[in-house]
Amino acid sequence: VTGPRTYKASGIVLHARNLGEADKIITLFTAEYGKLDAVAKGIRRAKSAFAGRLEFTNEVALSLHRGRNLDIITSADILRSHFNAVVQPDAYGAAHLMAELIESFCEPDLPVPEIYALLRGALQAFETSPDALRLLPRFQLRMLDALGLAPVCDQCVRCGETLQGAPGWLDLDAGGLAGMECHQAWLQVVELDDEDVENFRALAAPKATSQRATLTASPRAAKAVEELISYHLGRRPRTVLAQ
Ligand SMILES: [Zn+2]
Repeated sequence: VTGPRTYKASGIVLHARNLGEADKIITLFTAEYGKLDAVAKGIRRAKSAFAGRLEFTNEVALSLHRGRNLDIITSADILRSHFNAVVQPDAYGAAHLMAELIESFCEPDLPVPEIYALLRGALQAFETSPDALRLLPRFQLRMLDALGLAPVCDQCVRCGETLQGAPGWLDLDAGGLAGMECHQAWLQVVELDDEDVENFRALAAPKATSQRATLTASPRAAKAVEELISYHLGRRPRTVLAQ
C-alpha cells in the first residue's frame, strides 16, 4: 500500500547532476507528474543499488519518498534501456536535444502524455534508424502541437489561402507558413518550395502512422522547424548537433 509519503512513477531520465559527495539529482520526464527532479542517494558509490539504472534515456519504474525540498528515489527498475542506440553519436546528440527541449518546455506537476509517448517513440526509433537526426523535426513539431504551439501550415497563416501545391515562407510572428501574396520579403525567412511545404505538413500531421513516425525532413523543412523551436525557446538550443 502506497502511503501519502511515498509514491510510484515511471519516467525517462533526461539529465543528472552531482549533489554532495555521493548523490545525484536526476531530472526525469514522468508519465504521471511531468518533469520531476529527485535525489538518488549514494548513486556515485561503487556498490550503489542504482548503478547503471538511472542512465540517460533509460525508462524506469520508480518508488519515491517525499522530501522537504526534493523527493528521494528509493528504488528504480529499468523498463527500457536505449543504451545501444544512444552510444551512436547522432542518436546521442538527438536524444540530448530532445531532453533539453522537454526540460525547457515542460513543467513539474504537469503531465503531458502526448510528449511522453513521443519521447518514448523517438528513442525506440533510434534503435533501428541509421539517421537519428532526421527524425528530430517530426518530434519537434509534434511536441509543439502538444504544447499548443503548432504552426499553421495547411493554409497561409496571414490570409487563409490554401498552400496546397504552393510555396510557403516561415512567418514566426504570425505562427506558421505564409503564402506568396503575404510573405514579407524583408524578413529573414526560410523559403519552402511546394514539396517542402508538403513535407512540413506531413511532419506536423497528428496521425502517427508507422510511415509518419519515421518520416524524415527535407533540408529546408528541417531549417524551418529549427527556427520555430528557437523562436519559442527564445534562444538557440544549447545542444549542438553535428550536421
Ligand atoms: Zn496569405
